[in-house]
Amino acid sequence: MVAIYHCLHPSPTFCTQDFWRSFLHSDWNGELPPDKTVFCKELADKGILIQSIDEDSSSLRLTKKALEKKLSQTKILYLILAQDCNLNCHYCPVPEIAQGTQIKRLSFSSAKKGIDLWLSHVNDNYDPNTEYFIIFYGGEPLLNKTLFISLAEYIREQQVQHLIPENISLLLSTNGLLIDDEILATIKSRKIAVMIAIDGAKPAHDSSRVYEDGTPTYDSTIRVIEKLRSEGIIIYCSTSLTPEVISDAQDFRSTLLNLGIEKFGLNYLKGKGLKKYSWNTSIYIHEAVELIMKNFFQKSDISEYQVEKKIYAYENQDFFPVDCTCYGNQLVILSDGSISNCPFAQPKISNVDSCRADFRIWNSTVVQDWRKRLPLFKDVLNLYKAKSLCGGGCAWNALENYGDVLAEDEFAQEFTTRLFNELIWTPLNKSHIYGL
Ligand code: SF4
Ligand code: SF4
Repeated sequence: MVAIYHCLHPSPTFCTQDFWRSFLHSDWNGELPPDKTVFCKELADKGILIQSIDEDSSSLRLTKKALEKKLSQTKILYLILAQDCNLNCHYCPVPEIAQGTQIKRLSFSSAKKGIDLWLSHVNDNYDPNTEYFIIFYGGEPLLNKTLFISLAEYIREQQVQHLIPENISLLLSTNGLLIDDEILATIKSRKIAVMIAIDGAKPAHDSSRVYEDGTPTYDSTIRVIEKLRSEGIIIYCSTSLTPEVISDAQDFRSTLLNLGIEKFGLNYLKGKGLKKYSWNTSIYIHEAVELIMKNFFQKSDISEYQVEKKIYAYENQDFFPVDCTCYGNQLVILSDGSISNCPFAQPKISNVDSCRADFRIWNSTVVQDWRKRLPLFKDVLNLYKAKSLCGGGCAWNALENYGDVLAEDEFAQEFTTRLFNELIWTPLNKSHIYGL
């Protein structure tokens, strides 16, 4: 069987190998038999069969332009409320990052300037049909409880006065262990969604997610999730794919189902996280990808974010399967007021106190350089077959492990290739197959 598709917007046409061979050797000066004429028309409709190279160049140019436009929609604002944490999870880079950070708590004044700057980005190309997010992030953001509560109130006041659009969702990314009644009341009244980390079932979770003194956190985390659920809070779950989680995948799925979690994200260990474990990188990548794919095949009631967005990109022929929003889609305000595009790599691009009013993250040299990770913006011709689904992986991971922000992210490449192959071949049964 042969699948023929356009690299930029794949929608495969299938034929048998014999049909394909005979098609390639057709007498192009004579009349084509009816089945080949129909086949030709289908390939032409899909932009695969072209009259001149200009058609291809124009398709590439338009796709690049559309991608640039999408990358310059800064939909997300990260506010790093605290650069430290109350936990000491084994794989976490935060303690190391915190060592190099002098001001570990974001101030109200810097946060407010950050919000204003972000709104300037949003207003440049505001789309009422898009969902925008302000994410309270850390370390552990609730170590800066006063700021969290003040900002939630400030954003509400601004929305009442129509100074901040209504279609902005608030998200708190937390380990949950500092949530008290006052914080819960704010979360509830401001309808803040909570992204909480849980690394699988108890043994896996407790082997990594611990306090400084080694006290495990699974039981307290579950109590928090149950409390949030009973209060009707929207909960998302993020899971780091530690070797323990991978080895214990079945328990992990039932844990999430029992907790009533409908949506979750599986995050492979980035940066130097994997070096804390004895697993070989290639084996780890293979196993992590298998786990994500297995979840996809099982078609469970819980959906996984990474797979979901790539399937969306594929089904909608939308060349925007971003693995990361650091290419212009997010503004990150670090705890000392610095402006960045990534909460982990933290390149300090400017500062809320000194940046010009026309500062835009997508115009910064850092973002422009990082974009060269994306297949369409690479300096060299990219032959990667799954490029339509490749979102560039994680630049910070590349930087940490290879010292080069443009190095390939092996995980992203293997994951994308695996998923792409599945998507290309899955509709096989439903489709017409030329030559049969
Ligand atoms: S809770 Fe999050 S930020 Fe804190 S140590 Fe664990 S992984 Fe790091
Ligand atoms: S570069 Fe990596 S760590 Fe930074 S925002 Fe992107 S995916 Fe996250």
